[in-house]
Amino acid sequence: MILILKPNTDPASPEFSRLTRHLDSLGDITWTRHDIQGTEQRLTEIYLLGNTKALSTSSMQGLPCVERAVRVQSSYRILGRHGHEDRQNGFSYNGVQFDQESLHVFAGLCAVDTPEHVEQMMQALQQHGQVTTRMGAYKPRTSPYSFQGHGASCLPWVFELAGTYGIKVIAMEVTHESHVDEIDATLELAGHPTGVMLQIGTRNTQNFELLKAVGRQSTYPILFKRGFGITLDESLNAAEYLASEGNPNVVFTLRGVKTSMGDPHRNLVDFSHVPVVKRLTRMPVCIDPSHSVGTRDVAPDGLTDVMHATAQGIIAGANMVLVDFHPVPAKALVDGPQALTTPELGWYLDDVAIAREAYLKRRQRARDHEGERYASGNTEATSATASR
Ligand code: PEP
Ligand code: MN
Repeated sequence: MILILKPNTDPASPEFSRLTRHLDSLGDITWTRHDIQGTEQRLTEIYLLGNTKALSTSSMQGLPCVERAVRVQSSYRILGRHGHEDRQNGFSYNGVQFDQESLHVFAGLCAVDTPEHVEQMMQALQQHGQVTTRMGAYKPRTSPYSFQGHGASCLPWVFELAGTYGIKVIAMEVTHESHVDEIDATLELAGHPTGVMLQIGTRNTQNFELLKAVGRQSTYPILFKRGFGITLDESLNAAEYLASEGNPNVVFTLRGVKTSMGDPHRNLVDFSHVPVVKRLTRMPVCIDPSHSVGTRDVAPDGLTDVMHATAQGIIAGANMVLVDFHPVPAKALVDGPQALTTPELGWYLDDVAIAREAYLKRRQRARDHEGERYASGNTEATSATASR
């Protein structure tokens, strides 16, 4: 069961103490507190674990500070929706809002290589008004003999360049908990010129000890990739590890699944799951068209397959796009063949805007339909409302 407290409840208040004393007296039930800092208010949720079946939601709703009691309906206790559309979703980080309404494009290098390439990329982003990017410093590679990323050594100049070009958030994969400390120390030393969203790659989706370690810190939000060979439910449960350890600021990324049925693409594009993840959880949903498609091939209509896949995700309501770009893909040290080029960034962003506009129109039409239904007095659930 989840207790949603009244906004801005003060944990030092006598009412809050009365609430916690009551919770402590519930015998075999334990509880943890989660604070969610929004732009305007702080929300506190209390998660009750144990035999909560014996508790009635109405009696829990009568406790001091409690606004609402929600019975948990799925194993994604913290990140799940539990049938309540109106629970707060999303978070704000370094001045950027991430939720199930917003849209941000994180175009950048799969792997950091040279300061010149990083600077050219960031220059292009600034020219196009972008404040978010992707930059891989720690690369999990299939072969131990492949380039493994520059690691901690590139962080000082990557962060400094990000600050110079107004980048607020860099998505950066970590493959070991020590990488979080390295990022932390470098940002601290540089005076926090930028922010970092810690990426958990598909190869580490079920690396539970890494998830627990990254979930224990709350400085950085987390970009979590779906596992490429497991079910969606297994990936969502894995994401819940992050929240269960204390960090609910998680963006869930669809990046395609591994099967020869996806050939000639690198993976089978799974962006039809965008609305599914939004319905089951409160996480903003990211799509990664580059690692899904894996090529820069162009269709007869002149659009690249990466752009087509991007549009498919956005028209389905995606909230973030992680996409590989490079000033000179032929010189990229990782995944050059799937990178779009920096001169294509303006075109790509325009294409994103076209798909987004179509999505917003589709969403508005769905709302109009809902209004039409109420106006006609037909309040029986339709397929559009039955599953909410
Ligand atoms: C990446 O985004 O650089 C990456 C390695 O992606 P994935 O974990 O989805 O393969
Ligand atoms: Mn890559």
